[in-house]
Amino acid sequence: DDIWQNVPMGAPDAILGIAQAYRQCEDPRKVNVCVGAYRDDAGKSYVLPSVRAAEKMLWESQEPKEYLPIEGDKDFVRCALKFAYGPNMDIDTHVAAVQTLSGTGACAIGGRFLAQFWKNHPIYVPDPTWSNHISIFNQCGLDCRKYRYYNRSTNALDLEGMLKDLNRAKDGSIFLLHACAHNPTGCDPSLEQWKEVIDVVRQKHHVCFFDSAYQGFASGNAEVDAQAFRYAVSQHVPILLAQSFAKNFGLYGERVGTLSVVCGDAEQRDHILSELRLIIRPLYSSPPRHGSSIVKTVLMDPALKEQYYEECAGMALRIQKMRVKLVQALQKAGSQHDWSHITGQIGMFAFTGMNEAMCQQLTDEFSIYLTMNGRISMAGLNQKNLEYVAASIHVVTD
Ligand code: PLP
Repeated sequence: DDIWQNVPMGAPDAILGIAQAYRQCEDPRKVNVCVGAYRDDAGKSYVLPSVRAAEKMLWESQEPKEYLPIEGDKDFVRCALKFAYGPNMDIDTHVAAVQTLSGTGACAIGGRFLAQFWKNHPIYVPDPTWSNHISIFNQCGLDCRKYRYYNRSTNALDLEGMLKDLNRAKDGSIFLLHACAHNPTGCDPSLEQWKEVIDVVRQKHHVCFFDSAYQGFASGNAEVDAQAFRYAVSQHVPILLAQSFAKNFGLYGERVGTLSVVCGDAEQRDHILSELRLIIRPLYSSPPRHGSSIVKTVLMDPALKEQYYEECAGMALRIQKMRVKLVQALQKAGSQHDWSHITGQIGMFAFTGMNEAMCQQLTDEFSIYLTMNGRISMAGLNQKNLEYVAASIHVVTD
């Protein structure tokens, strides 16, 4: 009965550990700006009415509970790919795709595919990035390295450093790119800057692995948020795409996503799809069906789809408004710092520029829970806690 005595205590997950500390905190002033899940202006989690309507339709049509195929629900995958790549992509010929366990699962399946079929090529992730990227790609057996992305002294994109690192990497390297709403910095290249990046990718025969976790949730417009990878497609560079419906549909716990590989012709597509099936089958056999049924139902019903687009834009707009209000509240609290990067950033998070000591003080003295890199979830802010958070940030940064 002692066979497990050598199992050590694993490190707690950086983000989920903070969420737990928040739950245990008894300070009535406590604020959670750590976790990346949308909250409405009352601080409540939010189910989109279009999603509720789709669930009602599914219930009424007696949605079956049978297994999906290994690669998932064909109709869902088709809708999802149209949503991502737009109407001009010939998805039947040029895209091999499978349904995945949200964006995380898509990154993991894509990582395994690359480890098997693009052997001995390192994968570069932005510095900083969503920390799970590094864990996922290491676990896939990929050689995970960093490229310069963000300049902490100017709170802006380090385009020059990024282009240099793209140029220095050996030909055929894999570059993980956040399609929009870069996590944690909220700092995206402009379309012009994306063109420069993709130009170097093409010259160096690199492979782009786009992680699209926020399409529609960033700008409020799903077409605009897809511009980076749609441009890359138009330039015929090799592309993988991890797509998540966690944030833009609010389907966090349903685990809905896709992984797709853009390829030359239908024969290649069939080959790639067959290999993706072989990766998935021993891992979990087939994906869950309820969440993908919801997305499919919404996207296949023109009226529901239109309603969905408005509701998604509503979430994006509330967050954009909170950015403006946070900066105003900081000024009102007396802060003399330049906070303009907060309104310049996009997506779920603001990368405030606060250092670890400031973040620790916010948690210890004000019960404001955030990650120690200075990232705060804009979605966690609302009219009730905004002034308190701003005044507290002013105290620790003054
Ligand atoms: N990629 C990025 C950059 C993210 O920020 C997230 C979520 O926080 C994900 C992927 C994956 O999330 P999920 O697995 O819930 O789709």
